[in-house]
Order: sequence, then C-alpha cells, then structure tokens
Amino acid sequence: MPDAAAVYRDAFIAALQPPLDLTVSEWADAERQLTRRSSSEPGQWRTDRVPFLREPMDLLSPRERRIRRVVLIFGSQSGAKTECGLNWLGRTIALDPAPTLVMFPTESFAKRQIRQRLTPLFTDTPAVAAKSISSKSRDAANAMFLKEFEGDMLLSIIGGNSGSAAQGMPAQNLWVDEASSLPLEIDDKGDPIENAEARQTNFPDRKTLLTSTPGSRGACRITWEFETRSDRRRYSMLMPCCGGHAVIEWPHMVWDTRDGEVFCQCPLCGERVAQHHKTTMLAGGIWQATAKGDGETAGFHLPGWYAPYGWLSWEKIRDEFLRAKSDPLLLKGWVNKRAAEAWEDESLAKVTAEGLMARVGGYGHGTCPAGVLAVVMAVDVQDTWLEVSVWGYGRGEEAWRIWHQKVEGDPGQDDVWEQVTSIREVSWPRVGGGTMKAVHCAIDTGGHFTGEAYEYCRQHARGGVVAIKGSSNRSAPVLGKPSKQDVTFRGRTVRNGVTLYLLGTHALKRTVYSRLKLDEPGPGFVHFDDATTDEYLQGLTCERLQPRYIKGFQVLEWVKPNGARNEPLDLAVYCLAMLELLKRRYNRATMWEQLEAQLSGPVAPAAIERKKGAWLSQ
Ligand SMILES: [Zn+2]
Repeated sequence: MPDAAAVYRDAFIAALQPPLDLTVSEWADAERQLTRRSSSEPGQWRTDRVPFLREPMDLLSPRERRIRRVVLIFGSQSGAKTECGLNWLGRTIALDPAPTLVMFPTESFAKRQIRQRLTPLFTDTPAVAAKSISSKSRDAANAMFLKEFEGDMLLSIIGGNSGSAAQGMPAQNLWVDEASSLPLEIDDKGDPIENAEARQTNFPDRKTLLTSTPGSRGACRITWEFETRSDRRRYSMLMPCCGGHAVIEWPHMVWDTRDGEVFCQCPLCGERVAQHHKTTMLAGGIWQATAKGDGETAGFHLPGWYAPYGWLSWEKIRDEFLRAKSDPLLLKGWVNKRAAEAWEDESLAKVTAEGLMARVGGYGHGTCPAGVLAVVMAVDVQDTWLEVSVWGYGRGEEAWRIWHQKVEGDPGQDDVWEQVTSIREVSWPRVGGGTMKAVHCAIDTGGHFTGEAYEYCRQHARGGVVAIKGSSNRSAPVLGKPSKQDVTFRGRTVRNGVTLYLLGTHALKRTVYSRLKLDEPGPGFVHFDDATTDEYLQGLTCERLQPRYIKGFQVLEWVKPNGARNEPLDLAVYCLAMLELLKRRYNRATMWEQLEAQLSGPVAPAAIERKKGAWLSQ
C-alpha cells in the first residue's frame, strides 16, 4: 500500500530538482518533440532508439567538467549525429542559455539546415519554443542567421566559407556540422574551426561539438581531430551469440550469395548473427576508448552498419559496396559515408615525394635525354621572385624535368624579366648531340604583377611567350579559348595587347598526378634530373583531391595543405598546357615523327657553334 504522503513528498522533491542537472539525453527524453517535417519517426525523442548517442550527448552536459570537446565521425544516415547537436542546442536554450555558435560548411548549406533541422527544433519542441524571442526589429536576412532566446542567449549560425568565423561575438558553445567539408583556410584568415574556438576563450564552461562524415585522409579536418586529439572511442556491441562485446568492422559482414541475406560473423565466437538482433546488440553496447587523447577531446566513430534496425539495412550497404568496389570514386564515397573512414584516392595516394625520390637521376640538370623531342618552359610570378621550370616531352608524352630555378627579384622591376629572356634563349644540350630550345614559355599572370606579366608577354609574343591564368572552374577545358586583354603597364594602356589562355588546372593536375603514379618508363612516365631535391618533390606532390560541398552538392577539389609551396606543381601544370598548345600546331597522329624529323639528328657541338655564328652574322 503506497504511502500517499511519501508519493507526494517524492514528487515535490523531484519538482525541486534543479533542471540544470538534467543531462542532454535526460532532457531530450523528457522534452524533445520530433514532428513529421523533420523526422521519419515523429513523436517523443527516445535515446533508447539510438543508444550510442547517450554518451556523446551527456558529455556535452554542464555536469561533465573534464571533456570540453566531442568529435563524432559517423556514417551518413547511420546514427543521427545531427540529432546529438540538436538535442544539445535544445537543452541549452531551454535550461542553460549561453551564447552559441553553429557553423555549417557553407552559407547555402546553413540555410538548408536552418529550414530542415533547426527551425523544427525551435518551433515543435514546446520547451524550446517557449524561450524564443521574435526578432521583429531585425531584417529578415539577419533574423535567419541570428536567433535570440530568453536569458540573453544569442544563437549565431554561419557558413564556414564566409570568413565570418574569424570575427564576431564570443560564444560559450560551438557546434560545427559536416566539419570535413569545411575549407581548410578562408582567404588566408586561417582555419575556421580554430578561429571559431578562439571565440570561446573567456568561457570556463565552453563546449565544442564537431560532427561529420569523414573526407580524405590528410585533408579532412574531423579525421585529424579524431586521430590526433581524441581518445578514439569505438562502439562494442553486445553479441547475442556468446554474450561478449565486439567492435564490428566491415570484414565481419558476410553473405553467401550476392543477393542473399547479410550476417555479422561474431569476431569472438565465429557464429553468424542475423540483423534483427541489432536492437539488443546496440542497447547492450559500450563505447571503448582506444587512445589516450589530449584529455579534453572525446572522439566517437560509428560506421553505417551500426544504424538502428530498420534505418539502413546491411543488404543495402553490401549492395552499394559491390557496386562501388571497382570504381575508385564510388568506393571513396562508400568508405566515407558507410565505413565512416577517411579515404585517400588510391590513384593519388601512391604519389609521394619519397616514392619519386627513388627515380631521380640518370641525367644532369639542364640536359635533355635522347627521348626529348620538344622543350617548353613556364614562369610562376611570386611577390619577391619568379620560379621557372623547363620540361621536355617525347613520344607518348613521356616527360623529363630539364631545369628548375628560383629567380630572386622584384617582378615590378625589369631585371628579373631580363633573366627570363636569357633562360628562354638557353640552348639545352641534348644527350647524343645537339641542343634544344623552349618553343613556348607560359607566364602566370594571375598574381600581383598582372601588368608586368602582360607587358612581358606582349613584347615577346613572337618568341612563343604565352600569357596564362588558372581557371577556378572545375570543368574548364585544359586549354581554354584565348581572349584578348588590355595591357596596362606603367600608366600606359595597350588595347587588346595580349592573348590570354585560361587553363583547366583541375583536369591538368589530375593528369600530372596520374602520370606521376606510373612506375615504368614509357608513355606518360615522368623523369627527374639529378639535381631534383626533396623540397621540389614535396611541392610537386603536396595537393590532394578532397570532397567539398558547393551549393549542397559534393564535388572534388584540389586542396593545398596550409603553408605548403606548390609552385613545382603549378609549373608542371603550365608546361603540360604549353605541350597542349604545341599539339595544336601539329597533326596529332604524326606529331612526334614530325618533331623528330626537325631534329637534325646527332649534331656535333662544333657544328652547332658554326650554325650559331651563321645566324649571328645574318
Ligand atoms: Zn559471439
């Protein structure tokens, strides 16, 4: 027989419990309402549906004092990682108002997430909606990205591409969603996550949540956080077969026929477990740290096959895998989205400076091996120097680095440009006799000295000097249609004075990297002269293809790590474009025969000298 007084007393005490003590999961289980417009499972939020979210959510609760940063690398659709952020945000608004910053990779991505995920949280969960202050005074655009709640809470929502991460209001709480798609640096203002975290400096109770599917190793911000700072927790499921706990990896997924049922083969006892056990396997699961970490960052990794039963079937994941496994680009998407692992494009992963160092040598700096049938050069214009590469090409576009040098000096002055002229006039000795000169010289006009670069191209156009500029358009052709540009130099303008070629650098870099990957001399193979340094090869191989979101679409972009010098790569790209230009003058089928015929065969150096004399006397 229950004691009425005791029941009343308990209820009274429960009502007096300071609500601040609720963890994020306790708050969500009590207050968070999901509606049809934001969830396929509308109704009261239940952490039991996604048991692996309880621990990361609760580390974001104020009562957790040690962990300040929570990193979730989850497969897409697998574990409602965005819900972790929404529940934290909801609890913050309802119980613990504090200035908060939410960052998405881009502004358009942010707009979509505001519409699809944040607005339903603000309006459909009564405990949150009650705290909302309508901001009639602000204009609509501002109101979209800046929300006000009771308790002096400002919520600022930004796109990581906008540069606004670098400045703005201080924030106690920071949530970065799809962190792997963030640009690594914005307009040279630095890393967007570092900039955002700098705003938290004066808050002793600061918390940071980073959520994402991973991108490419070496260029993925969240993988770096997980691997270098976090304690790398992995979810061990309770195995119904033997009662042990096991982390399930892709090789544990087995099937008998391509369209048959997929089972999990227990890594502990070897028994096959059917998918419908997953609910109890997840409920009995535990997170286990696999590294020490920095002491304040907890990392959680969850592949797609952990998705709650009914969300994403093992058969669907297997089917996607079978479709993707022979296509590197599809497989990359599968590894990122389903295995939740960072991926380095296999075709690019093999290209490293160390690997290329092994092939350096066999011919001297500034000499053309016998296979070289055409020589081109390119000039990269920096603020205090010019950098020059000379490349030779032969049959099958086999390539030889002939010469590479920095030319120190101010591109605003004439003397560095005079040095370019002397390099253009060098006759490079050819193995077996004879010499070769660069038939084209590309000048990068995209830097700070466009006027000077244009003027040099204008004066030397007849000498094969070509004005070029890299196109930011991913689908630009390797060598775009030339256009006439005005040349303004030292206060004088020459209308249509120069012909400018836009280069499809995206495609050219792919070609350079795929050729660097070849390891047998022959068509496409790239050779390096014996003066090639490690620094040069580091620069040549420093960029990586990385997925990015642009207007909500995922695209692959070339990314240069912070601080890396990529001039050797740019110059290799420009020279390859000059080879394209040369190809336009020839019948492609017979180009190399024609070029070979133009070489006068092995010529004794003395004969060259005589020829030179003959030209000089003309
Ligand atoms: Zn077992």
